[in-house]
Amino acid sequence: MTRSVKKHLSELSVLGGLPTFSEQVHVGRPNVGNRDRFLGRITEMLDRNWLTNNGPFLQEFEQKLADSVGVANCVVMCNATISLEIAIRALGLTGEVIVPSFTFVATAHALQWQEITPVFCDIDPLTHNIDPEQVEKMITPRTSGIIGVHTWGRPCDIDALESIARRRNLQLMFDAAHAFGCTYKGMPIGGFGRCEVFSFHATKFFNSFEGGAVLTHDDELANKMRLMRNFGFQGYDNVIYLGTNGKMTEVCAAMGLTSLESAEKFIEINRRNYLSYRREIETVPGVNLLSYDDAERKNYHYIVGEVDETQTGLTASEIVQVLFAENVLARRYFSPGCHRMEPYRSFFPHAALMLPQTERLCKRVMVLPNGNSVDEDVISRICNIIRLATANPDVVRAALNNQTAIRSASPIIASSSGRGA
Ligand SMILES: *Cc1c(COP(=O)(O)O)cnc(C)c1O
Repeated sequence: MTRSVKKHLSELSVLGGLPTFSEQVHVGRPNVGNRDRFLGRITEMLDRNWLTNNGPFLQEFEQKLADSVGVANCVVMCNATISLEIAIRALGLTGEVIVPSFTFVATAHALQWQEITPVFCDIDPLTHNIDPEQVEKMITPRTSGIIGVHTWGRPCDIDALESIARRRNLQLMFDAAHAFGCTYKGMPIGGFGRCEVFSFHATKFFNSFEGGAVLTHDDELANKMRLMRNFGFQGYDNVIYLGTNGKMTEVCAAMGLTSLESAEKFIEINRRNYLSYRREIETVPGVNLLSYDDAERKNYHYIVGEVDETQTGLTASEIVQVLFAENVLARRYFSPGCHRMEPYRSFFPHAALMLPQTERLCKRVMVLPNGNSVDEDVISRICNIIRLATANPDVVRAALNNQTAIRSASPIIASSSGRGA
């Protein structure tokens, strides 16, 4: 439910107006495909009474993913974090692995969880992806590999990374959590490096509730990961390997299959929304929408804005606070960067010195709502809020500072306003 479009500064919620949206508008609200198809599959599953352990839905899901990417092997798992952990272990990575700091913390945790040190590398400010020139500088005798992240579904400079990996004898894999349905030089993401990892978490482009997959051209690597995913079991009662439980249930595979059938529709909706944001944001000086390469296929899942405070008069963080007050839960992915999160912040207190572009982007970035539940009207209202606030930055900033002052002076308000940003 929405109210009429706000025209005057005083109507902004940070200045006392009612929120633009009476219900919260989220980034990453799940895209759900055909409900009947999903429920049909659940009935089929119950009739079959095969609930997990390499069931028919799982096998079908793996086959369809492998076919759509054009890769021989797809190993589906319970989530992308476990998929990363298993891929890292199956590749035999040790010592240090180079990763961007500007990523979801799971990329780093998947290494640290097995006592491999993530070495944080800076990004290219234009692409937001790991900068190959910086990668070279982070290599030490302990380095065993590089994990590139295709942030926002926009591919890394894969050629440059492959050339470094070859020259320096390092393993190269990709966290492709954002990048299902995207291409690099016309080739589907999923087929590069030693392996690539997708996420099908509920907030991702398409979901299996929770889920992940590792895709690889390497049969031997795939077999190793299949063993690791299932406690190292080969057949009944025969354990031939160290393993864990990374299996995906049939319920999740049924959801994954159903979502996959709607992937083209989700892309069309995301694209339409992206174009609406483009049109609207153009009229707000100092807020730049990240663009997508015309020559590549993409899923348009992330609407990423970069805020130039010298033009807007407000920081990205302040604009997000203004949006929150209007019930638009914009996010600051991936601020403040993994290097400023624990345990890495304590391990590497001076990491920021090597990460100037990451630091800069973390101050400027904001991610706006997209997906099935957003339409042109919602987008126009969201952009209108940003336009109104940035046209009057001094008043808005004073109101935000005033609120902060009131909150810190009043423990009751402080505790009732706790919401994750
Ligand atoms: C979401 C995400 C993950 C983790 O995926 P899960 O399926 O939630 O475990 C890893 N890396 C990146 C870049 C992500 O965005």
